[in-house]
Amino acid sequence: MEFRDLKAQYQHHKEEIDDAIRRVLSNGGFIGGAPVRELEEKLAEYVGVKHCITCANGTDALQLALMAWGIGPGDAVFVPDFTFFSSAEVVPVVGATPVFVDIDADTYNMSPDSLEKAIQYVHNSTDLRPRAIVAVDLFGQPADYDRIRKIAQQYHLFLLEDAAQGFGGSIRGKRACAFGDISTTSFFPAKPLGCYGDGGAIFTDHDEWAALLRSYCVHGKGADKYDNVRIGMNSRLDTIQAAVLLKKLAFFDEETEKCNRVAAEYSRLLQGHVKTPVAAPEMYSGWAQYTIRLEDEQHREDAMQRLKDAGIPTAVYYKKPLHKQEALKDYAVSELDYHVTEQTCLSCLSLPMHAYLETGEIEKICETIKSVTP
Ligand SMILES: *Cc1c(COP(=O)(O)O)cnc(C)c1O
Repeated sequence: MEFRDLKAQYQHHKEEIDDAIRRVLSNGGFIGGAPVRELEEKLAEYVGVKHCITCANGTDALQLALMAWGIGPGDAVFVPDFTFFSSAEVVPVVGATPVFVDIDADTYNMSPDSLEKAIQYVHNSTDLRPRAIVAVDLFGQPADYDRIRKIAQQYHLFLLEDAAQGFGGSIRGKRACAFGDISTTSFFPAKPLGCYGDGGAIFTDHDEWAALLRSYCVHGKGADKYDNVRIGMNSRLDTIQAAVLLKKLAFFDEETEKCNRVAAEYSRLLQGHVKTPVAAPEMYSGWAQYTIRLEDEQHREDAMQRLKDAGIPTAVYYKKPLHKQEALKDYAVSELDYHVTEQTCLSCLSLPMHAYLETGEIEKICETIKSVTP
């Protein structure tokens, strides 16, 4: 059994994907070109945002957003304590200070109440200037943008949506990557919309930021890449990856629906045995991960072992709060509370999740879990 079955996906769409890759090889253009432009247009249209700028990966996408806003030393950026390292890593990269925010126990996304407490702490007790919120759409479910957007407005903060896991999700029909002042995603192979290498994209309605982002992506280019008007990066999406993504985008909604059916089946079978994911009624998740919570760390270890023995792969996203990571622990604030993140890190377990998971496999996974839970 596969945790995320990229081979099955490829086998289902082999001919069209092979053909798309062959066409790039024949054309001999490997950076930029028509497939990249077409992908950016299609993605912007899909999300419902004016500009899409592709780049080399989801981490660069986050960093480029902070660069476009001129965020740097003395600035505070609020990041959930429970997320992949990248969401916070980019903040010190531009010289700013990450301030970690606890999560909601049901959605695993940033808690708006904890966010307000963290902003007030920075206002009242530090010399830092609050500048931006990085809201992560963890495991595929959009963050609580109704409330986070209001907080961003109230405190005059930029809102950056990290939808690396969120692509395909929506709230009342509005799609992920449309909630931030700038939003980003990743096309890492195992993400909801993945390519066959690294890739990323940035979304915004703001014309000036879009122009700045296009410059920062290509060595701070001015009129062209040999006219350099600012210090930038080299962060581009390869043509082959764009061609693959164009093919995958065509069946993306169908796969997302299948993932929703898998998640519903998991929840039906596991309800009452473990804590299953909670989605607010107006939320549609892309199900990047299906994450349950066991009673405690020991139960999780038992479940993982039993699943492993049965040939079922699992993963722990995430074992450590960001404020306890060696590279970030100096930014931990003892006055702020991270107990939901801490408890979640000890008990969460992500199960196989992809569009090609069969009913028999889901049943086997759930039976195995039930055999170790009360
Ligand atoms: C994967 C991921 C990223 C980084 O994406 P890369 O393309 O691997 O750089 C950022 N944020 C979150 C939440 C992610 O899961």
